Amino acid sequence: MTLTTLHFDNAFIRELPGDPDHGSGPRQVAGALYSRVDPGPVAAPRTVAWSREMAAELGLNDADIASPFFAQVFGGNGVLEGMQPWASNYGGHQFGVWAGQLGDGRAISLGEVVTSQGKRLELQLKGAGVTPYSRGADGRAVLRSSVREFLCSEAMHHLGVPTTRALSLVVTGEAVERDMFYDGHPQDEPGAIVCRVAPSFIRFGHFELPASRGDIDLLRRLVDFTLRRDFPHLNGSDENRYADWFAEICARTATMIAHWMRVGFVHGVMNTDNMSILGLTIDYGPYGWVDDFDPDWTPNTTDAVGRRYRFGQQPNVAWWNLSRLAAAIAPLFDDIAPLQAGLDRYVAEFTLQTRRDIAAKLGLSECRDDDVTRIETLQQLMHQAEVDMTLFFRALSRVDPHAPQLEPLRHAFYDEAKYTAAEADFLRWLDAYAARVREDAWAPAQRLQCMHAANPCYVLRNYLAQEAIDRATQGDYEGIHTLLDVLHRPYEEQPGREHFAQKRPEWAKHRAGCSMLSCSS
Ligand code: AMP
Ligand code: MG
Repeated sequence: MTLTTLHFDNAFIRELPGDPDHGSGPRQVAGALYSRVDPGPVAAPRTVAWSREMAAELGLNDADIASPFFAQVFGGNGVLEGMQPWASNYGGHQFGVWAGQLGDGRAISLGEVVTSQGKRLELQLKGAGVTPYSRGADGRAVLRSSVREFLCSEAMHHLGVPTTRALSLVVTGEAVERDMFYDGHPQDEPGAIVCRVAPSFIRFGHFELPASRGDIDLLRRLVDFTLRRDFPHLNGSDENRYADWFAEICARTATMIAHWMRVGFVHGVMNTDNMSILGLTIDYGPYGWVDDFDPDWTPNTTDAVGRRYRFGQQPNVAWWNLSRLAAAIAPLFDDIAPLQAGLDRYVAEFTLQTRRDIAAKLGLSECRDDDVTRIETLQQLMHQAEVDMTLFFRALSRVDPHAPQLEPLRHAFYDEAKYTAAEADFLRWLDAYAARVREDAWAPAQRLQCMHAANPCYVLRNYLAQEAIDRATQGDYEGIHTLLDVLHRPYEEQPGREHFAQKRPEWAKHRAGCSMLSCSS
């Protein structure tokens, strides 16, 4: 069995200081970046879904993953040779406020695999029991959130969005109690564990915590380690390497956010502890996908009043989060100019990437300044008239630039009355757009190809995930497998799978889990 031949090289815990206390009891951990802790055993682990590509990348085949042994290990009932489980220690700004020590309260890393291709991939169980950072909570995860994380991280990867990945989804055979509506009526829900995978799970909050405690020595050790392990191309003796490093984090974050905006993804909880140093989408909680275009929409009920993390606000929040990271690492700089330059790099990179995306979404060979205005006008119209973002952009390629009509776009409108009211405005916009396309250098085939590569046909609409969750709760995991397969090729029309490329049905508009989600997971 290849599972036992995985090669582990646990650099994080080998090279960084750990907590001398090995218990799982809650505590403040000073001077250390992790605590060793074993996953808690579960009653009846069973693997119900996995990512075949992720498995292949690790050198595992279907038989390895389907074996009961896999379920035992990835359900938390045992470790493989070379695994040295730990929970890492970080802090964070939550909803704009410094929250102190947070840490992996329900994530336990098993080890860092070095693949046959030489790639380092950390395996981390989410929901495997309490750690010193659980702060009185149970360290467990429910099936519904685990399905959501498993499916969405894989879907994002196939959409071309930088993200952590998911290897497996294991049901534990145990119940987890959650008060989903925060109304004092907790219920038992099935428990599950996702094994997520990334080259690094280091977050902005990992740097903020030692900085907040004035532990500059620990801060420097962590920065040097991150440079060595995760940014080896910058790890020369060059005195500018810290500055280059911060600038690269800013650029990667900008790329990630531009992708979110392109595909209509709303993270929902962009706290600094949920920001990856590699610019990967991380910590899938009450995230959501924009159905009708609305920059003010947030899926997170906990954020419903302030809407700090609403769709249209994400680019600004990422900048703010980077500014918190800059403040944390500032003690390592003699002069803050390079930090300011990094933040400027974020803006420049985001602007550049956004302009590329505008051109691609509209099927133009370049983005002119008037195209920025063009898409903004369109977005305003879409917002007012309640138009489905995914359907509209996907169908835009079907508009004939020589005879522009609204017909191909009609199905993207949610509301008849609003359609009628907006029809003339949309036609005016389409006429100008068609004229612009006619002027553009690209041939129709090139335009089509580019639009189809930028405007997905299939995204993990909240209600689609919920349908798979409803079935999984009844013990039927087929819905998860089908969705995983559909989302594997999000830019390709898949005949017979029209159900997955439709606008949100009316019933889903107000149902919990479909339109609004709580943090209770
Ligand atoms: P999140 O909003 O999921 O990013 O979590 C914020 C913090 O709460 C992190 O430190 C988590 O580890 C912790 N946390 C969330 N849920 C649990 C749980 N069920 N048990 C223990 N810690 C948790
Ligand atoms: Mg988190």
